[in-house]
Amino acid sequence: MRVSEGRVTVTVPEQPDAGKGADVFFNPVQELNRDITVAALRAYRERTPRVSTYLDATAASGIRGVRAAANDWETTLCDIDDDATALCEQNLERNDLAASVRRSDANVLMHSEAFDVVDVDPFGTPIPFADAAVQGTKHLLCVTATDTAPLCGAHFESGVRSYGAVPRNTEFHAEMGMRVLLSAMVRTAARYDIAARPILSHATKHYARTYLEFDHGAKVANDCIDELGYVHHCQHCLWRDHDYGLIADPPEDCPVCDKHLQTAGPIWLGRTCDPAFADAIAEQVTEEMGTADEAKELLATLRDEIDTPTHYDQHRLCKRWGRGAEAMDEFIEKLRDAGYEASRTHYGGTTFKTDADVVEIREATAE
Ligand code: SAM
Repeated sequence: MRVSEGRVTVTVPEQPDAGKGADVFFNPVQELNRDITVAALRAYRERTPRVSTYLDATAASGIRGVRAAANDWETTLCDIDDDATALCEQNLERNDLAASVRRSDANVLMHSEAFDVVDVDPFGTPIPFADAAVQGTKHLLCVTATDTAPLCGAHFESGVRSYGAVPRNTEFHAEMGMRVLLSAMVRTAARYDIAARPILSHATKHYARTYLEFDHGAKVANDCIDELGYVHHCQHCLWRDHDYGLIADPPEDCPVCDKHLQTAGPIWLGRTCDPAFADAIAEQVTEEMGTADEAKELLATLRDEIDTPTHYDQHRLCKRWGRGAEAMDEFIEKLRDAGYEASRTHYGGTTFKTDADVVEIREATAE
């Protein structure tokens, strides 16, 4: 079938069972991810003018790489599968674009060559590619993870094995997953004296996506490690707190209701997004993109999200408190009127972030 995205049209095989069993994989639901990638590549080139090379490390049909090439990136498309690389060649030719196509294990390629920007968009977890991707990236590493159940603690052992962290299945599960992924990537980069700082991250439609900007040196890598830590969470009253460092220091019990606390970590507690970069990307979202409106709305929400390591869901809180939910704008306004910072989040329509704790939220938003 033919698919048009942005400036290009590619051919991809019919996807019988959501991509399973197809000769070459293609997921139409990831169009938003790809539109934001193209806008991010444009914005990143303005932020760092000397960058020019882009590796689509797990290319499948090549749609990402073909779109990068159509935006004047000196592009390499890599896939381990013969059918995929043949399709990448055809899709480049169809769009009259030139790029290098490699049939290779991406880990071998990334160990032997470095690119300004590397994009790892595999099946499931990106961890099997993490070490090579860190070594094969000069400036910006873009990573997708679709194994949301291990990441957010729903498949606990698998999450522990893949990410070397303790994930917990909390009511802020998508953010838990994002921060577990970021923790693993930051720790991987730090092993090579590289600071990997997320400048854009979003959890959308069963995947987590992040863009990590690299800075080289032991000192800056240490600074990144200092932003790892633990979240302590009460499943009963939904109180939570966090502490920095690689040794967890949880309070004995929940200070609000005395129930047992669950601890997750080490997770990334730092910023997941640079608001200025989110704005710069939004400026690069153009009308030919199929998800332009959705992308702009998402980027505006990411820009405005306040910087706290967890978020709340108004509906879940109100249910616990035995009270009716209200319009999000009014709810957030009440928190602000009471002197707290508060914003919506991109994790869901009824989610918010605030510097108030669960007791303060309840008081500030009471009738
Ligand atoms: N990035 C694509 C897109 O936006 O449509 C989707 C990629 S698909 C989820 C994952 C691809 O990774 C598959 O085509 C698979 O053949 C490829 N792959 C798996 N292991 C690989 C490896 N070790 N090296 C390179 N490619 C690999």
